[in-house]
Amino acid sequence: MLLSTQIVFVRIMLQVCISNIHSFVLSTLDRAFSWVGINAGHGRAVRFAQTIAVNQRKADTLETPIPTSVNYHFTRQCNYKCGFCFHTAKTSFVLPIEEAKKGLRLLKESGMEKMNFSGGEPFLQEKGDFLGKLVQFCKQDLQLPSVSIVSNGSLIRESWFQKYGEYLDILAISCDSFDEDTNKLIGRTQGRKSHLDNLYRVQSWCKEYKVAFKINSVINSFNVEEDMREHILELSPVRWKVFQCLVIEGENAGDNALREAERFVIGDQQFQDFLDRHSDITCLVPESNQKMRDSYLILDEYMRFLDCREGRKDPSKSILDVGVENAIQFSGFDEKMFLKRGGKYIWSKADMRLQW
Ligand code: SF4
Repeated sequence: MLLSTQIVFVRIMLQVCISNIHSFVLSTLDRAFSWVGINAGHGRAVRFAQTIAVNQRKADTLETPIPTSVNYHFTRQCNYKCGFCFHTAKTSFVLPIEEAKKGLRLLKESGMEKMNFSGGEPFLQEKGDFLGKLVQFCKQDLQLPSVSIVSNGSLIRESWFQKYGEYLDILAISCDSFDEDTNKLIGRTQGRKSHLDNLYRVQSWCKEYKVAFKINSVINSFNVEEDMREHILELSPVRWKVFQCLVIEGENAGDNALREAERFVIGDQQFQDFLDRHSDITCLVPESNQKMRDSYLILDEYMRFLDCREGRKDPSKSILDVGVENAIQFSGFDEKMFLKRGGKYIWSKADMRLQW
């Protein structure tokens, strides 16, 4: 923690120094040239300034990550109770929609190409209308190449697809098991409703309304021995994201946490065994804890970036208060890991060759 804070501090100090040196040298040169009465000096000062500005731009480009792909968890509320949930209902806050749109526009101006809406359960707010309006705004107004959602699938209605489906590129549904009892043990369920029925229903709507269908699974001590090949092949998602159960202090571990994920945790070898068992599934995209921790740009309900490097979620200031470039310095985002884990892929449905 100390080391990362120091690095951020040194980085900021360096940028401040560069810009101060820049202004100081310029004014000194101008004064020197005008003192000796050489007008031509102005041209040299300008060239010198241009060189420094170019170098500073290069430094800025190297230092400030571009928010190409952002995950906005606009609500923490959820109707499920998954035991390992790592974005829990610590607040019930949701930004007013105009503020959320303002933040989305700022992100677009900073280079965002893909927006993923997540939670909590994003379809909970205003029965999915809040989410639908943001999806439509991102596609229609901001013209983002990719707009996606991660949901547990239990609250989605066909009428939502009729109204907003055309604006959505990808819908990911979380499913950790094809055994209903295991889903219940995990907490991925509400009352007597069948999680699997919902999953299959949403998959068929995705087909009907031309939205790319994706599945996310968290591999944990309850499902690590399962063989999911048959169901995954049947559902035929464009991508099957397979995560290793992750512990985050303050969310699913530690004194103030709303969940205790310790009993769900699996070792690296167990995770690898699961991947080996499913190695013939070509759409499988594995994500170990190490890959997951720093390679996502996560915005919370206040539009603050969350830095997960220390195994907990340390928030930046809100992009609505300090802007994207400032807040992103405190996001802990590892752009190289993002690219290494294949974070940039064909994410616009217009570019996918899907069989509808
Ligand atoms: S579906 Fe489960 S993991 Fe997802 S937000 Fe709800 S409780 Fe958390």
